[in-house]
Amino acid sequence: MSTRRFMINSRAVRDGYASFDGDIYNHMVRVLRLGTGDAVQLADEKGTEYSGVIDQVSKEWVAVKIDSACQTSEAESDSPRITICQALPKGDKVDFILQKGTELGAHSFCLFGGRRSVAKIRDDQHTTKLARWNKIVSEAARQCGRADIPEVIWRASAVEAANDASQELRLILWEGEREHSIKDVLSVLNKPLSVVVAIGPEGGFDPLEVRHFSQQGFQPVSLGPRILRTETASVAILAVIQYMWGTM
Ligand code: SAM
Repeated sequence: MSTRRFMINSRAVRDGYASFDGDIYNHMVRVLRLGTGDAVQLADEKGTEYSGVIDQVSKEWVAVKIDSACQTSEAESDSPRITICQALPKGDKVDFILQKGTELGAHSFCLFGGRRSVAKIRDDQHTTKLARWNKIVSEAARQCGRADIPEVIWRASAVEAANDASQELRLILWEGEREHSIKDVLSVLNKPLSVVVAIGPEGGFDPLEVRHFSQQGFQPVSLGPRILRTETASVAILAVIQYMWGTM
């Protein structure tokens, strides 16, 4: 079995050892049944890769003895940093969007309350929702061997989400767009440092939202003649961008 790789926080490494409890402990010891003497690879958020061997396992924590460390040339660093700006969809579609988006290299997610979002989040639900969403992306990052874990933020409306944007290339996937296809738009551009893509909920974008995103520099683009589910659109645009400018 190839050596398993875990995304860690650099703070876990101290004096030649890395210690873990919580999710990483569970994944290493309970899910993968790793134990003393098993080799592991660790990757922190700064792009450092560590090779080590599990040295001690208790009921709640595991200690890895670090044998070597090296600074990786962050394979993903020359890909654009892609932000998915997603209107809150119904039910557990958001789990799918976060998980698949992480696997497809999204750098961050901005979830927002679209005017036509059926699902709503009360103010007192933010914290628990964000904790759950961050758990999904960190688990997905770990599963697919990413060296970084995407950030997830919440904005109450499309206006707030649009106003937040500072990415170099800004796109809004709009089912009503008839002139500019994603192929037309991307094929004439140089690779940007950062991209943000706004995606509507099941009910689509309200024309006022499209106008506001456009005023904030988001270019409406079409993904073709078929109407895709919101979660399909999210996966499709990430695959297209990664194919054009990323690590695919
Ligand atoms: N209510 C809309 C309708 O019936 O026309 C459908 C919305 S679609 C289910 C959800 C979101 O996916 C859209 O708001 C858009 O962001 C994106 N999307 C789906 N198909 C698309 C397409 N062909 N071109 C551009 N964006 C698309």
